[in-house]
Order: sequence, then C-alpha cells, then structure tokens
Amino acid sequence: MNGIEGAQRSASTGRAGRHLLAVIVSSLIGCLGADGTLAHEGIGPATCDHLPTLEAWLTLHAQRWDTALSAEPGYERPAHVDVCRLDGRWPFADNHQSRVYVRRLETTDDQVTLAHEYLHLAFQHFPSGHDERYVETTARRLVADYP
Ligand SMILES: [Zn+2]
Repeated sequence: MNGIEGAQRSASTGRAGRHLLAVIVSSLIGCLGADGTLAHEGIGPATCDHLPTLEAWLTLHAQRWDTALSAEPGYERPAHVDVCRLDGRWPFADNHQSRVYVRRLETTDDQVTLAHEYLHLAFQHFPSGHDERYVETTARRLVADYP
C-alpha cells in the first residue's frame, strides 16, 4: 500500500507498466474488505495536494452533519480533515493522516463520494466506519438531507 508514489513515478517515466499494474493489483487486494467488497481506506502519498474549495465545502457540511451523526454510535468528529487531489485509483480515506483523496466536486455523486470518505474518518474507531454499506448509505442520506 506504500507503493503509490513509486507507481506514479514509474508511470510518468513511461516504463515499468507491468510494475505499475502489479502495484495497483496488490493495492486493490490490500483494500478488499472481509466481505470481498472494495474498501476505501488506504495510505496516501507523503504530500497532500490540497483542494481548498473542497475543503471549504467539507468543513461547512461537516458542521451541518454533526448533529445527525452525533446520534450514530462510534461517531468522532475529526478535528481536521485534509482534502487531497487524487490521481488515478479509487477515492479513499487515509485514517492515519486524517486525509481524504478525491478528484472533484461537480455532481451530487461527487458530494456523496466526499461525504463517504469523510465518514470513514469520522467512524474509523468503530466497526461501522469499515462497513462500506453503512458508510455509503449514510453518505447518501447526509447529502440528500443537507444539500
Ligand atoms: Zn468506502
């Protein structure tokens, strides 16, 4: 899961495509949850390419969501979340660095994606934070209730 930066570097040199594929496959396997679904938790690169507009949106909405989420067991509002630009792969949350990696915020689906990754952080110490169905359902409800 630490090979992402190296993989990107390899890709940018235009060689070692097979290595890149191996890294991606191993990353995906590493992200597979116990029930075989693709989990969205991983370890991001050392640096964060901040997306300030998305961070502002998330800060505003995290405040709005706070009351609703406080009723959910295991909720711990993160003190701070970095929203970092994702290059390739699937959007994911880095619990250790309190970061989410997403691409854009143009559609409702993008909002659900950002909310989803945020929820992985907010429930990271509770089983529901690792339950993709719970996280996705909650993200959709939050975006619908707090547009
Ligand atoms: Zn997820």
